[in-house]
Order: sequence, then structure tokens, then C-alpha cells
Amino acid sequence: MVEFKNVFYTYPNGQHALHNVNLEIADGEFVFVVGSNGAGKSTLIKLMLRELTATQGSVTVNGYNLSKLKQRKVPEFRRTIGVVFQDYRLIPELTVYDNVAFALRVTDAPKRYIRSRVPYVLSLVGLSHKAKSRPEDLSGGEQQRVALARALVNDPEIIIADEPTGNIDPQRSYEIVDLLHQINNCGTTVLMVTHQHELVKYFGGRIININTGSIVFNEVIGGQDGASGGQYETDEF
Ligand code: ADP
Repeated sequence: MVEFKNVFYTYPNGQHALHNVNLEIADGEFVFVVGSNGAGKSTLIKLMLRELTATQGSVTVNGYNLSKLKQRKVPEFRRTIGVVFQDYRLIPELTVYDNVAFALRVTDAPKRYIRSRVPYVLSLVGLSHKAKSRPEDLSGGEQQRVALARALVNDPEIIIADEPTGNIDPQRSYEIVDLLHQINNCGTTVLMVTHQHELVKYFGGRIININTGSIVFNEVIGGQDGASGGQYETDEF
């Protein structure tokens, strides 16, 4: 669950990035966040991850009021979120298996659990056969699937994907969003930031458009694959 109430964010240099943002994302939703460069998308995500705190207003994510969250509680909070970045951020020296296992090891998960959980999430993203490979031996799409497995391994309540298909060729981009939809169908909330309007139009669903720090569009639209079941078509965003 994500809730922004009258949120403003101004950077220390005085740059206003978000202006009175109100937003609710319920558990189990799939949401695309779109907007041009400099619109405020990264700032919105940084507030959700508690990398920044709102200048004014309140941000609540997965039951944590981030405006009041104590620093020592931040790691516990972050474990409720899986994050996927455009540039994958895998550790080059580690195998696929160890990249995913690493995210569990840092939480002191029991070894037995790691041994069963890692193969499971690798099978979910279709990469069981690449467990022993290193990131450099994988395609961009495969590396992003590893990053997705790593985001999933702690069983987060929400996956936040920041331009996850930005470095991937268009055909593979659809596969990544398909995978995010499958993850969403199993109950995990998904928020995906993208520039690729063709993806948004194809899949449909809830679209949040940010423009110069304000939400200017927040509706469900129909997709072309019938997967998301939006209520109507629009060209507004
Ligand atoms: P987007 O992710 O949509 O491209 P951002 O959230 O990065 O947009 O930026 C929103 C606004 O905040 C822009 O005007 C940008 O120039 C400004 N901004 C972003 N990061 C910083 C920063 N660290 N310091 C000052 N201004 C920033």
C-alpha cells in the first residue's frame, strides 16, 4: 500500500520537484508511472524508498509512515520493497545464483531457506539453467530477470521498477512487463516507471502521469492484450 497525502518536495538548492501530490496505490495493483524527463518520477520513487523525506505532507508505504520513520527502522521497512533499476545493478563477480542469494544472506536468512528459495525464484523468472553463469554472459533481458529474481527473493509486498526496460530491446521489454504482470497476478503490488508509451498502451492498466511535479492523469485504461481489463481508451496521457 502506498499513500501520498499533500506531498511537496523541494531539493536543498530550492528546486521544487513535487507539488501537492495525492496518491493511493492499493495492495495488489499494477501501476505504470509515466512523465517526461524532469517531471518528478525519480523524486516520487525516492520518497517511496525513504531515500528522501517529504518537505511537506505524508508518505505511507506498507504501513510505515515514512515522514516519522526512525533511521534504525529503515532497513526493516526496505525489506518490504523489491527494487529493480534500469541498469540491473548486479554484482559482476558473483554468479546468478549468488547475486540472488546475496539479498537473502544480508538478512541473515537460514542457509536451508536460501537453498530452497533461490532456485524457486530463478525458476519463476525462467533462469534456472543460468544459475551458474555470471552477469556478463547474459543478455540484457536475462540480466534484468536476475534483478527481478533478486527483488522477489525477500517476498516483498511491492516491486518498484524504475525504467526496467530502458536498456532492453523492444521485443524483450514486453517479456519483462509480462513477467511483472505474472508476479502481480500472484499478489505482489507492482509500480513501474517507464518512458515507453507503446508498452503502456499495449498492456493498459492504471496510469499515473506526472508533469512538472504534479499528477495530471490517474486513470485505468484498456490495453491491447486484454490482460488488464481497463475500462476505456484514452489518448490523454
Ligand atoms: P524524472 O525522474 O521524472 O526525470 P526528477 O524527479 O529526477 O524527474 O526531477 C524532478 C525535478 O527535480 C527536476 O526539475 C530536476 O531537475 C530536479 N532535481 C532532481 N534531482 C535533483 C537534485 N539532486 N538536486 C536538485 N534538483 C534536482
